[in-house]
Amino acid sequence: MFKRILIANRGEIAVRIIRACRELGIESVAVYSTADKNSLHVSLADKSVCIGPPPSAKSYLNMDAVISAALVYKCDALHPGYGFLAENPAFEELCMENTITFIGPPSEVISLSGNKSMALETMRKNRIPVIPGSDGNLKDARHAVACARRLGYPVIIKAAFGGGGKGMRICSNPGEMESMFNIARSESVSSFGAGEIYIEKYIKNPRHIEFQIIADNSGNAVCVGERECSIQRRHQKLLEEAPAGNLSERTRRTIREYAVRAANAVKYKNLGTIEFLLDEKENFYFIEINSRIQVEHPVTEMVTGIDLIKEQINMAAGLKNPYLGKDLKSRGHAIEMRINAEDSENNFAPSPGRIIECLLPGGPGVRVDTFIKPDFVIQPFYDSLIAKLIVWGNSRYEALGRAERALDEFRIEGIKTTIPFHKRILDNKNFKSGIIHTHFIEQQCGM
Ligand code: ADP
Repeated sequence: MFKRILIANRGEIAVRIIRACRELGIESVAVYSTADKNSLHVSLADKSVCIGPPPSAKSYLNMDAVISAALVYKCDALHPGYGFLAENPAFEELCMENTITFIGPPSEVISLSGNKSMALETMRKNRIPVIPGSDGNLKDARHAVACARRLGYPVIIKAAFGGGGKGMRICSNPGEMESMFNIARSESVSSFGAGEIYIEKYIKNPRHIEFQIIADNSGNAVCVGERECSIQRRHQKLLEEAPAGNLSERTRRTIREYAVRAANAVKYKNLGTIEFLLDEKENFYFIEINSRIQVEHPVTEMVTGIDLIKEQINMAAGLKNPYLGKDLKSRGHAIEMRINAEDSENNFAPSPGRIIECLLPGGPGVRVDTFIKPDFVIQPFYDSLIAKLIVWGNSRYEALGRAERALDEFRIEGIKTTIPFHKRILDNKNFKSGIIHTHFIEQQCGM
């Protein structure tokens, strides 16, 4: 097992990883930018080191600074968290060159997962259902129009190297396709550094359901459950649940098998997520692989009792997959609400600033993953996620009641947050009955 792990991240996920290290008896080393000097991850870690000024490009994304910190502090492993360097194959290779174990999959798997066109191609070859699309990247606008004609409108343009819900455009007719092709391509170059784009049939009101994979270094992959992530705004998740409701047992089991097949197809190692879209008839389609720990991982932890961060560390240390051949039971229902420093009543405008007062909810079935504290300043430089409120109940009904109660207790003064937004969702009749899809927020909440 590792002796000392460098945590190449900040915020709630850095705190989460430090806690797992502490429980495993592993020392943790935090890195921080000058803006995060007083952050919770810095005070909780055994050691900490400043790696640069506030902009991420000069600190948390600065590979040389991060690796130097790991070397100076003699770390034998590094946990990237999510975002920043977590899905950068070159960074995994740099860790290897410096004999630091990267807690995540190898660079080939990261590369393949990060190139959505290639991942789709691999899935097609392995007879995993994918959304009808352009079968590879588009050559030019004419090619795009021809593919769209074959598929039928509407279609969605996606960037092969896209992520974070960005770089997608819906086209409803050939005119739109022609005018959007070049815009989408240049956006892809400026946002993701590559102009490869492809199209897919646009699915009406789909559900986004993703499957958690644990795989050891010998490639033994197991699916430990699924998450319902359809509550999104602009393709970004805001509330997640486990297990997915309103899903037939047969479909759930079938997709689980496909998720494991998908993991095997890319020789997956460590933890990852296989994402699927479901249409209104429960037809399901692979959309992508995420080769990192997900923000929403706690809902799976709450219903399975598995500590996913510890398992990432165990798998990276070469332990055998303990869930192989086991009949895993899921218990109860969990819901995660992302609390962002955003004014949900004002078009989700960013709301950085000083937290004057904060009171975290507690009591049975309530977990809060956060780094906020009174007098802490939320910086404008980073992701707006400031806390995750996770609730568990014996049933979805009980979990919903706890979610409402916990949101009522949660007080954050000084900045605007998405707490009022979550209250609105929980109050919605269709949400209560589990009738949800990816356009729920715009159609039901008018946001
Ligand atoms: P990213 O990697 O940027 O998160 P994904 O491919 O995972 O992109 O898609 C994010 C979201 O975009 C999905 O959850 C869904 O809401 C929407 N989406 C993606 N592909 C389609 C599609 N073919 N039809 C309808 N919605 C889609």
